[in-house]
Amino acid sequence: MSLLVVGSVAFDAIETPFGSVDRTVGGAATYFSLAASFFTRVNLVGVVGDDFATEHEAVFSGREIDIAGLERAAGKTFFWSGRYHDNLIDRITLTTDLNVFANFNPRLPEPYRKSTHIFLANIDPTLQRSVLKQVTGKPTLVALDTMNYWIERTPAELRETLRHVDILMINDEEARQLSSEYNLLRAARRIFKMGPKTLVIKRGEHGAMMVHNDWVFSVPAYPLDEVHDPTGAGDSFAGGFMGYLAGAGRLNGDTLRLAMVYGSVLGSFAVEKFGLERLLSLKRREITARVRHFHKLTTFKL
Ligand code: AMP
Repeated sequence: MSLLVVGSVAFDAIETPFGSVDRTVGGAATYFSLAASFFTRVNLVGVVGDDFATEHEAVFSGREIDIAGLERAAGKTFFWSGRYHDNLIDRITLTTDLNVFANFNPRLPEPYRKSTHIFLANIDPTLQRSVLKQVTGKPTLVALDTMNYWIERTPAELRETLRHVDILMINDEEARQLSSEYNLLRAARRIFKMGPKTLVIKRGEHGAMMVHNDWVFSVPAYPLDEVHDPTGAGDSFAGGFMGYLAGAGRLNGDTLRLAMVYGSVLGSFAVEKFGLERLLSLKRREITARVRHFHKLTTFKL
């Protein structure tokens, strides 16, 4: 089994009520890769500029992350900045500078083309499709994330890409917007007609819900004493989810449910500190301990 991710590798500037960081390494593909690398080897496809130095690249080293597909282009790395409100849920985007991302044309190194598990992080749906086209053979599982920007501005391209996707992983607002249905179960049924057979809805502090055919599975958000920075929670969730499935090598109702738990656990670690800090210090045994605790938290006798 091999896991491929395409998405942003970025510099982020983040402000929350607990403090701020400037130009820290972030990006959806970065959070995803770090989270997934606890379970399986990850092949990363993305682009950085010539300001992305060896010290920045160090976040990937010593881990099961292959960055042969991380292109270096002349110019500046993608830059994003955001500010969170006191509730740590609502945030405003202050800056999105696409920089080298604007002309990004993903190219898969030969060994990546046989990937069995693929995560198309939130980027232009046309680029997501171009990655899929370069994959040879039929992958076991293709999952996709997107956002309101693409739902509003490139609906036809997004619809075309969705036809080739097994799992759509979005938040509740995006599910409502994409389906024009407020009720999330009805939204799921509409989305199934677009291609995906499974919908994973990330709901922040309310946890996450999976809808697959006629069954629904929900996990709570892991209760935490302190949340410092929600940036990357969704991408870390996706990394835990896809990483676990690729590592397990089996795809059935049980592994999908457990993937939801691993996703929730990785998301919970990501938000404990600023930027990538907590994921960088995380140990496999801490993940296992939190999954066990999760089990206690959600089990009851009938
Ligand atoms: P999340 O908190 O899950 O929305 O992910 C935050 C990460 O996504 C940050 O590290 C940003 O660098 C990255 N990001 C923000 N906006 C975009 C965008 N328009 N396209 C790609 N990546 C983005």
